[in-house]
Amino acid sequence: MRTHIILECTECGDRNYLTTKNKRNNPDRLEVKKYCPRLRKVTLHREVKK
Ligand SMILES: [Zn+2]
Repeated sequence: MRTHIILECTECGDRNYLTTKNKRNNPDRLEVKKYCPRLRKVTLHREVKK
């Protein structure tokens, strides 16, 4: 039941991370703080459809 998702930086729009999530446990759009290599700092990354 794990779905592949992409995590996109909300500040520059780069798609920095490919990950998986359990759709049943996390039906809402995932938002996590991750390191953005372009901005070279931690930013909020949001789930986008692959
Ligand atoms: Zn970024």
